[in-house]
Amino acid sequence: MECKLDARLQQIFLELTSIDAVSSQELPVAEYIRDFVGKLGLEAHMDDAAKLSGGNAGNVIVPILGGGEFFLAAHMDTPRSTAGLKHRFLADRITSDGTTPLGVDDRGGVSEILYAVEKAAKAGTLQPATLLFSVCEETTMAGSLSYKPAPGIRYGFVFDSFMRPGNFVQATCGMIQFTFHVKGKSAHAGIAPENGVNAIRIAGEAISRFPFGWRGNMANANIGVVCGGTGTNVVCDDVFLKGEIRSATREEGEACLNSILADFRQTCEKYGGTLEADWEWDFRPYEILEDDIPYKRFAKAAAACGLEAVPQPTMGGSDANTYNHTGLKAINLGVGAQNPHGNDEFILYEDLQKASDIAYYLLTEKL
Ligand SMILES: [Zn+2]
Repeated sequence: MECKLDARLQQIFLELTSIDAVSSQELPVAEYIRDFVGKLGLEAHMDDAAKLSGGNAGNVIVPILGGGEFFLAAHMDTPRSTAGLKHRFLADRITSDGTTPLGVDDRGGVSEILYAVEKAAKAGTLQPATLLFSVCEETTMAGSLSYKPAPGIRYGFVFDSFMRPGNFVQATCGMIQFTFHVKGKSAHAGIAPENGVNAIRIAGEAISRFPFGWRGNMANANIGVVCGGTGTNVVCDDVFLKGEIRSATREEGEACLNSILADFRQTCEKYGGTLEADWEWDFRPYEILEDDIPYKRFAKAAAACGLEAVPQPTMGGSDANTYNHTGLKAINLGVGAQNPHGNDEFILYEDLQKASDIAYYLLTEKL
């Protein structure tokens, strides 16, 4: 299929992907956006997300015509440095020379939104809305966690999924991260092992019953880090474990965690050890229904751009999880940023254009 990428869109994408800005170092992208929208007569302000992120920039927020009732969002950070990026323009796509990422996650999303707002501003077709460019999506989600929406904002569209335009994340799992500290009692393993309580023995026995892997369509669990012990002649008194539990609902995730905790505690009791446990939701699950505004509006936008809106479940998290948790219904849209985070990241010209067209539709639709 022939698809002409608008030269202006290509230019914006090149400029944005030429900026090296990993998580918490987003300031140059923030300045680019501020200058960009400033030339359109729009004012950008930066919030205080840097307080939470510890980085050099906050979220950049651009209210258009009073800010409206919804936002278009993308994140400014990349998980890996793109320093030294050399773009490659192939027949159907833009990629790097293979020695660095392209930074398409999520400068692709940022480009698509900026191109659309410029086009609409110049055509005089802008409708009220807010643009939201977040920090630290790739690490702590400090940006979306810090975002305080203006009172009128009720829902949003996040331009940040690797999927191709038309697809959108309609449901995601949530993820609990946990740290367990199994405490035993040290003793000389050769002379008086009976005086000790071996934390490795306790942890090993409990780990053997841990529900590794899938528990259902959108639920799994993993222990990814285990460490402990000081020497072969010492009964080990400290073992640390780190892991995660993904689930489609909060209830199921916490039930899974509680059963794991109960098993670890019982095993500790059996051998005379104790357990200290820390856990938190890294991101929470969400599900958007067909009746929800972002679902309905996106379906209309996709159709207007010649695409079918295809709801997809995913196992990953994004800023959309945070927004949904704070009461703002939001969907994460496919922007076509393929092979995210690898040196083989790429975007099809066709996808860059289509996702921009969707952004344009959303920004210019009369509500
Ligand atoms: Zn991303």
